[in-house]
Amino acid sequence: MLVRGGTVWTPNGPRDADVRVANGAIAEVGRLTPGPGDEVIDATGLHVLPGMIDVHVHADDVVAGRTLADTFPTATELAVRTGITTVAGFVTQRAGETLSAAAERCRATARGRSHCDVAFHLTPTVWPWPWAEVEALVAAGWTTFKLYTTYREAGLHSSYERIGRVMERLAPLGARLLVHCEDDEVLRAVAAPAFDAGDAREQARRRPETAEVAAVERVIELAACTGCPLHIVHVSTADAVARVAAGRARAAVTCETAPHYLLLTEAALGGRNGHRLLCTPPLRAAATRSRLEAAAAAGAFDLFATDHCAFTKADKDAGRGDLRTVPRGVAGIGALVPMLFELLVTRHHLGLGELATRLAANPAKLLGVYPRKGAIAPGSDADLAVVDPAGPPRPVVSTLADAYETYPGRTSTWDVRHVLLGGEVVVASGALVEPDRRSGRLLA
Ligand SMILES: [Zn+2]
Repeated sequence: MLVRGGTVWTPNGPRDADVRVANGAIAEVGRLTPGPGDEVIDATGLHVLPGMIDVHVHADDVVAGRTLADTFPTATELAVRTGITTVAGFVTQRAGETLSAAAERCRATARGRSHCDVAFHLTPTVWPWPWAEVEALVAAGWTTFKLYTTYREAGLHSSYERIGRVMERLAPLGARLLVHCEDDEVLRAVAAPAFDAGDAREQARRRPETAEVAAVERVIELAACTGCPLHIVHVSTADAVARVAAGRARAAVTCETAPHYLLLTEAALGGRNGHRLLCTPPLRAAATRSRLEAAAAAGAFDLFATDHCAFTKADKDAGRGDLRTVPRGVAGIGALVPMLFELLVTRHHLGLGELATRLAANPAKLLGVYPRKGAIAPGSDADLAVVDPAGPPRPVVSTLADAYETYPGRTSTWDVRHVLLGGEVVVASGALVEPDRRSGRLLA
């Protein structure tokens, strides 16, 4: 197959070139002539980008006692239609379950049911970690682990001491630790007794910015001491991004933010339906959001990921009277690429290469699969998005499930014409070519 005549975004920048695809991989990039029997995709006037990667997706799982609205079939359909060819979910070990059994349980939810490739991060919940099992899993390609500095009630909290000990053991294995950063002591100190259970804006007051900043400072010190690569998920404050920037000199630290922190503020939590946008960390004040946007435009984030965590409308609304019972999380998977394109390229005039770095190359590096994923180069998987960035404006759709839209009224000109997954055309004119065919593979 030949993708012909487009502007191809290679790791060395844009090239007017053709891309030859054979046996699921990229064979050649250059001025090429179709061979006899070659299928040709005309990319004239279009941009050819590496398939993008959302490294933070919750789907087909039970979170806070509720079954998530999105399954792998629905989440990955929307993902691939916007140019995402790999998503990463989370394996959270359950009581009485070995880590390997937890991994297999989650693999089973994605296997044969996904329209794009799927990876997972591992969250062991028993202490001490089963190190022989962990080492075997790392050797089999499970190279990312995730811990939380909060969520004591859910059994997910890890002390800094434990995080440090985990980092000491992960570092020599070449694995990486992802951390949800909100300092539990700070959160408990501000747990207001006079809680207004009818006002979603209370959530922002109860999970202050200082909690995030304090935890980020602590885990960066641990990364510096242990040499373990550290990735901070869903950074929501500009002060925490500044701590990461300062920490890069002495620690292997990276960070992500999610579109909702760049695009929405705590003002959206006011009113009758504010509870629908409750998430953790919470939406922040307008001044913080605007500093976060400036940081994103200046390249402060290694990557963007959604923390897609859609609950059904019924589950969200059941807690309207008492906000403490509202499940936290918002939809975002379908919004990642179009909204980041609008923000970074249309508004801040960054190049498509910046988008490809932060939505494809760097996420692939986080997952340990670069340049097999995240690059258009000979030998890489033929995961490609052929896009007209200046298409007709269309509404942004965050989820295909029965969940509330996070960005009602927003539009994007990001027009995905074709998506190739492992050399196979899975999307044409923005729609699945064969809706019943699930071509996604598991990366580990
Ligand atoms: Zn998450």
